[in-house]
Amino acid sequence: MSSILPNEAAPAPAEAVPVVSPATAKRAHTHVVEFRDVTKTYGEGPNAYTAIRNVSFIVDDRPDHGEFVPILGPSGCGKSTILRMIAGLSPQHPPTSGDALVFGKPVQTAGADRGMVFQDYTSFDHLSVVDNIAFGLECRGVSLKDRREQAMHWIEKVGLNKDVDAVKYPHQLSGGMRQRVAIARTLILQPRIILMDEPFGALDPGTRYAMQDLLVKLWREQQATVFFITHSIEEAVYLGDRLLIMSRAPGTILHEIPIPAAERPARDAQRDPEFLGMVFKVRDIVDELEGPV
Ligand code: ADP
Repeated sequence: MSSILPNEAAPAPAEAVPVVSPATAKRAHTHVVEFRDVTKTYGEGPNAYTAIRNVSFIVDDRPDHGEFVPILGPSGCGKSTILRMIAGLSPQHPPTSGDALVFGKPVQTAGADRGMVFQDYTSFDHLSVVDNIAFGLECRGVSLKDRREQAMHWIEKVGLNKDVDAVKYPHQLSGGMRQRVAIARTLILQPRIILMDEPFGALDPGTRYAMQDLLVKLWREQQATVFFITHSIEEAVYLGDRLLIMSRAPGTILHEIPIPAAERPARDAQRDPEFLGMVFKVRDIVDELEGPV
């Protein structure tokens, strides 16, 4: 595996002693997610197809600051396979070989510590915005009053209008509004790990910037670890702390690239020459991977 770094963040010399605070040292054993040589083959016999091979990576529990990890790679290289395996969803789970660990234990099933947001709007059509957002709390047995109160709070947190939008149904919302509902539905449950599969892929550029800003704000508040699949290199570089770049199928992780944190609104930051320089570097790597076979 190799990595590139932005010019301003040159790699530490090999002999440098890492500075580890006592808090970090105490929690250093806790990996939020660890893949050890994970391979997934779908089907059997002549129809067997290996989607990912020997995928290994570690995402650590960083005190007071989760990590934002975009995954980039050619179509069909196994990005969703990895995400859904972390989520414990079948048939991606279980791995054919290797270990997929969450908080140090093999993933067994879907769990409340992990929440997913997909590209296609996954709200229930027959439920209003407030009931969609409160749904997960209802499943957890939270009282009607409490879950409504929390859902109303989340309607505002994701930038919707509680007086106007709460009673609407999904078909009455724009794509951006529906993704706000999807984000609220997931984050209200305060998962430690948020799994996002091209959540903004269907949105127009202006709405996408707004959603990126919203996500940075909410993610900083929640301090969760985020895995984020996107085809937009700009989006990955803007949002990410560290990019994982995968090879063509059967996918494996070829590059891990640390990225400076997002400090400014998405629209401004993504015009910055330094930012664009980083995007070009990553694009060169991705283009090479996606080039002719
Ligand atoms: P990506 O998200 O990078 O586009 P996926 O993880 O969705 O890739 O898929 C990787 C490969 O595995 C693709 O060739 C896809 O067709 C195949 N695949 C995904 N899910 C299944 C499945 N349930 N059964 C058989 N093949 C699958």
